[in-house]
Amino acid sequence: MRSTMQDDQLTIGAIRRHVVEVHPDGVAITATEGGSRSRSYSELGERTARLANALRGLGVDGDQRVGTFQWNNVEHLEAYLAVPSMGAVLHTLNIRLFPEQLVYVANHAQDHVVIVDDSLVGLLAPHLGQMTTVEHVVVAGPDSADADLDALRATGKQVHLYEDLLAMQPTTFDWPELDERDAAAMCYTSGTTGNPKGVVYSHRSAYLHSLAVCGGNTTALSFEDRVLPIVPMFHANAWGLPYSAMMSGASLCLPDRWLQADPLVRFIQESRPTLSGGVPTVWNDVLSHLDAHPEVALDSLRLVLCGGSAVPVSLQQALQERHGLLVRQAWGMTETSPVASAGLPPVGCSEEEQWQYRGTQGRLLCGVSARIVADDQTVLPHDGRSVGELEVRGPWVTAAYYRPEEGERAEAEAKFHDGWLRTGDVGHVDELGYISLTDRAKDVIKSGGEWISSVDLENALMAHEAVLEAAVVAIPDEKWQERPLASVVVRDGATVTVEELREFLSRDFAKWQLPDTWAFIDEVPRTSVGKFDKKVLRRRFADGDLP
Ligand code: ADP
Repeated sequence: MRSTMQDDQLTIGAIRRHVVEVHPDGVAITATEGGSRSRSYSELGERTARLANALRGLGVDGDQRVGTFQWNNVEHLEAYLAVPSMGAVLHTLNIRLFPEQLVYVANHAQDHVVIVDDSLVGLLAPHLGQMTTVEHVVVAGPDSADADLDALRATGKQVHLYEDLLAMQPTTFDWPELDERDAAAMCYTSGTTGNPKGVVYSHRSAYLHSLAVCGGNTTALSFEDRVLPIVPMFHANAWGLPYSAMMSGASLCLPDRWLQADPLVRFIQESRPTLSGGVPTVWNDVLSHLDAHPEVALDSLRLVLCGGSAVPVSLQQALQERHGLLVRQAWGMTETSPVASAGLPPVGCSEEEQWQYRGTQGRLLCGVSARIVADDQTVLPHDGRSVGELEVRGPWVTAAYYRPEEGERAEAEAKFHDGWLRTGDVGHVDELGYISLTDRAKDVIKSGGEWISSVDLENALMAHEAVLEAAVVAIPDEKWQERPLASVVVRDGATVTVEELREFLSRDFAKWQLPDTWAFIDEVPRTSVGKFDKKVLRRRFADGDLP
């Protein structure tokens, strides 16, 4: 028997309509140098209609891809709403990609238009000529008239100023009825080998994911909140936070390019967000800043969502105990939209147990299923001990990559297993459903047939007061196959010896697990999304260039 329910489609257009009609009083606040600028959701309604009309005028009349090369700001938010709502596909270009990858993804996605922030024109212009499908470039932002438009024009593309284009357009648009299963947005994952791989989100996946992110086990958002996505809108859709905020009517605080601790903290004090999301490295910087400025209180924040890489308990403790900031760990990947689990501890456990649970990747959001699979493909029990690769499935988990290249098809297909996505993350799940990741499959250290968790060693090292950052990688070893090497960044003004660090680790680790090679470095190299780049470290140290 079929239901009697109406079959309204779950689309980003529906989110757009909702936020404009029901929460016109919400605001999007964008950081500027030393201040901010605001736009109400009611204004956003008119401007998204103008943008859709403008894009239509540039030939976007179907599912063409509209690339964005922008920071977290209100113009980017306008594209987030207008592009999918008009039936086109939003392709957020990661501004930190290496040039050849940037050109590759724009060509692979066949971007027709690129909207570029005025401050990023210089970064885009040298590569624009190679983006063969791009016909129009639209320069957005308060200083667009001063941008080097000639550098863009020299590539032969048609160049437009965003505000001029919008000014000529009507404030209404004939938004189409869309099929929720059609493409709404796409992102590429950087990947360690080969070309970046494309993930295409549907309206339905974005809608369901955003609802799940609004839920109480993740953020418990309402229109009383103000949400600060520090995680870039060009990386996995800023964890869905812009859509979740607008679904709830919550206001948005957008940090634009002001991501260093000092301006970020100032923006938080001024715009008073209640919830924020960012990777651990950002919160580590904020922590150092707050420690150095005890007079500063970030008392508007009720919750900090943190993920993208393991969130050390020591970081969570320091932020909470010294600065009153409650951190919740979340796990996910570009392929999972990205949020799939969040780390709220179980009810009724002791304080010590709570911290243990908060160090895990948490419980799955309803909709996502997970299983742990051994090397021989057997599915392992959720007993908190059996370690294997984490596989997931669900309505906001991708079932394939977008058009892999001929030579990369087999590799792309190997990421899927009987309808499950192989995450490349290794860990276990306990009886209460808490996921604990011990490593990424490619970072695992296998010493004499036993696994050593690089993540556990890093977390333990970063709990030492003299250590700012630590990354542990495997280096080849004749006798043991691999041994851990720890590279450590010491806090400004602090000193520490290898013996002291080994002694510190030996409280929690067996002797054979302790790193025997150590490197004191100035900073841990970062990937294009700001995570520790262990590839670079492995290359540096495994090629015999030992400290
Ligand atoms: P990239 O591969 O470029 O880093 P993603 O941003 O999609 O791409 O990263 C997803 C990966 O980030 C996950 O597979 C996992 O290894 C790691 N990750 C994300 N959140 C966490 C977390 N809370 N704890 C540990 N690892 C995490």
